Amino acid sequence: MVSVLSAVRSTLLRSRTFTTNAVDGFTGALGNTPLIYLKGLSEKTGSHIYGKAEFQNPGGSVKDRAALGVVLDAEKRGVLKPGGTVVEGTAGNTGIGLAHVCRARGYRCVIFMPNTQSQEKIDLLRMLGAEVHPVPAVAYDNPANYNHQARDFAKDLPNAVWTDQFDNTANANFHYQTTGPEIWEQTNGDIDGFICSTGTGGTLAGVGRYLFEKSGGKTQVWLADPPGSVLTSYVNSGGKLVERTGSSITEGIGQGRITKNLGTFVDKLSGAFTVDDTKSIETLYHLLDTEGLYLGASSALNVVAAAELGVKLGKGSKIVTVLCDGAYRYQSRLFSKQWLKSKSLEDAIPSHLKKYAVL
Ligand code: PMP
Repeated sequence: MVSVLSAVRSTLLRSRTFTTNAVDGFTGALGNTPLIYLKGLSEKTGSHIYGKAEFQNPGGSVKDRAALGVVLDAEKRGVLKPGGTVVEGTAGNTGIGLAHVCRARGYRCVIFMPNTQSQEKIDLLRMLGAEVHPVPAVAYDNPANYNHQARDFAKDLPNAVWTDQFDNTANANFHYQTTGPEIWEQTNGDIDGFICSTGTGGTLAGVGRYLFEKSGGKTQVWLADPPGSVLTSYVNSGGKLVERTGSSITEGIGQGRITKNLGTFVDKLSGAFTVDDTKSIETLYHLLDTEGLYLGASSALNVVAAAELGVKLGKGSKIVTVLCDGAYRYQSRLFSKQWLKSKSLEDAIPSHLKKYAVL
């Protein structure tokens, strides 16, 4: 009986002609993320704070855009052909985006990442069929840095491309072509400030350049940094690069150099803030409690910085930032009492919010 019914159902389905608004696979589902008004924080600061919900991309992060951008570029340049291999050095999110794109387009995906990153990201990459090489986290000027290992791996492999997310401007260009225009439309171009943190700089420079140009310089673009990044001091000192010192629990952000994606746009920035981990963790828990948003630490850092920028630009100012990814891929850390304690961050969480640290 059951099999008869299913045979009838499948015949009916086959004979029906659908007219739908369906999108084409993973690639088609990417982008057009909502812009979320952060009510609590807006009321508190007297500004209007908005977060671009990039965690809603199909691979779960803002880096899905960079991943698609660099793969489309490699295909267009003819350096990636059917059956080829994509190799990348990544803190995880670009890798996850690439692993999805590679599955969807039939490529092999090889990822080099620092072994300091969360287990969730490594597991997810492997579940998506990527080959993962966790390598010691060493500085960029060390030849064993994950990024150089990715480049070297791709060098002698036929039909393989190192997508080079840090210095391949197809990354920022994709944000210029998609994220920037989406934000412009969602705000009717009425934005006083855009601020976000930087890993490759693709999001900041791509979105920032679009908004800056489109507004004729009216929209100020600011940078948000974790401790251990040199960019805040670079921007605020008028272009002096200092040694990297300090560290942060945030993953995927902070930079020791001016990447090609940041490029000369870094000179257009109006300013920069460093946000410490205590403030980011406190805000992460507040956003969960008051907005119902379950976010990664870079999103929380961005929101802290957006609130600070709102105060700086004055009452009623409209500030947009980026909600880069969800907490799912860090929960064994950010929601673990023991892990928070190991980072001396347990007191960053107000006592009425400690109930959320359930692991
Ligand atoms: N947040 C998270 C969680 C990330 O993984 C990254 C990229 N590594 C960023 C923010 C920064 O994005 P971008 O590389 O575009 O600067």
